[in-house]
Amino acid sequence: KSGFISIVGRPNVGKSTLLNNIMGEKLVITSAKPQTTRNAIRCIYTDEQAQMVFIDTPGMHRPKNRLGDYMQKAAENTVSDVDVVLYLVEPETKIGPGDQYILEKLKASKTPVILVINKIDLLPKEDVLITIAAYQKYDFLKAIIPISAVQGDGVKELLDLITDLL
Ligand code: GDP
Ligand code: MG
Repeated sequence: KSGFISIVGRPNVGKSTLLNNIMGEKLVITSAKPQTTRNAIRCIYTDEQAQMVFIDTPGMHRPKNRLGDYMQKAAENTVSDVDVVLYLVEPETKIGPGDQYILEKLKASKTPVILVINKIDLLPKEDVLITIAAYQKYDFLKAIIPISAVQGDGVKELLDLITDLL
């Protein structure tokens, strides 16, 4: 199996950290400062089951200025012509207008989407469960998976889910 997988989500949710964890080394710059990743970066991951080309995108968000608009277009392009999209969010019990905007774009793209709830190491399990429940109404999502990109929890399960969709 093989395919292209793009990692999208708002700035700072941990997209680059996840990619580094999958690759097993620090290939992509991560930062607490939003918008560190300005262009899409590709990394090839291979295991016994599949070869996956991951695309780390600049953060997706409602554009506020021309640079934001340019980055948003780049992010949108990387969701329409890939095999799977990983949409990363942080565990928040409320889905805000920014998230809804992105979810609508993802739904319209017709590409299979896995919702990845990252940074579960920061919150109690109940909050993670509430976040999962909040996203369950978006039934176009192929799967919802909680992970910690920093600690690696759930990353193997995520790779298995992606493999199933290829
Ligand atoms: P990006 O903008 O989505 O690429 O986000 P980055 O990967 O650059 O990460 C933004 C910040 O969140 C960095 O300070 C990371 O160390 C932190 N971060 C990423 N994933 C996790 C996680 O699973 N747990 C915790 N506690 N912090 C994380
Ligand atoms: Mg990044």
